[in-house]
Amino acid sequence: MLNAVPDWLPPVLASPFVGSFLGVVVRRLPLERPVVLDRSRCEGCGRVLGLRELVPVLSYLVQRGRCRGCGAGIAAAHLQIELAAVGVAVVAAAAGAVQGVDDPVRLWLSCGLGWALLALAWIDWDNLRLPDALTLPLLAAGLGAALLLDPGQAPEHAAAAALGYLAFWLLARSYRALRGRDGLGGGDAKLLAAGGAWIGLEHLPLVAAGAALLGLLLAALQRWRGEAVGATTALPFGPGLCAAIWLGWLLGQANAAAAAVIVGQVMPPGALGFAGGMVLLWPA
Ligand SMILES: [Zn+2]
Repeated sequence: MLNAVPDWLPPVLASPFVGSFLGVVVRRLPLERPVVLDRSRCEGCGRVLGLRELVPVLSYLVQRGRCRGCGAGIAAAHLQIELAAVGVAVVAAAAGAVQGVDDPVRLWLSCGLGWALLALAWIDWDNLRLPDALTLPLLAAGLGAALLLDPGQAPEHAAAAALGYLAFWLLARSYRALRGRDGLGGGDAKLLAAGGAWIGLEHLPLVAAGAALLGLLLAALQRWRGEAVGATTALPFGPGLCAAIWLGWLLGQANAAAAAVIVGQVMPPGALGFAGGMVLLWPA
């Protein structure tokens, strides 16, 4: 009977609940409030929420975004992160299906990585920081995933983690030397290290280049929206890096040969863009 349940169904069904938990994580972790031991409360009146009010997505829609007790508006971010978590599971399942990857363990890993990166991107976007409480466990989980999928690859993934950290550390040092101020945070280095642990050496340059490109795109978008983006504006680098790591993981699972071609074609211009963009355009 178990065969009747498609591999994608359990993670997709779990995703709104994961999203609900991520909503708690992204709100409480930056404030250093307990993530698991504190009951969920209305942010307006402080009332502890009942079980019916904790159903992801649906409770928000049924209550039309308002608290049952005091009528205060519930932040739309709760709904947004729940839907984003569903999106992660759907994209992970679709990517696996398109690539013909038939492995439920890999699918759960794709979802778990995507959900953790979603929380990190969200926190960095709001707070301009990437908490160690998320990046370091993600690094360990990446090495665990490599051991689980292919123990022979584990040393390479450990090397990629070290290289990722070192590359960002060097870049941050160069930036400081050239521009006389800090441009990249230590959290970014730990995040790229975690990315290296998950994706391995082969795709690491592609991920770094992709992250830089997404970061510059983000800066351009903010400028286009009329926000003043100058050389000293603080912009989060994490969201672009998170997206690039997840895409790198999803692409890397297909076939190594095709991905290697992409790396060969995209890497040289990507690396140039990365270095040039960081030094010239990237705000401090
Ligand atoms: Zn209330």
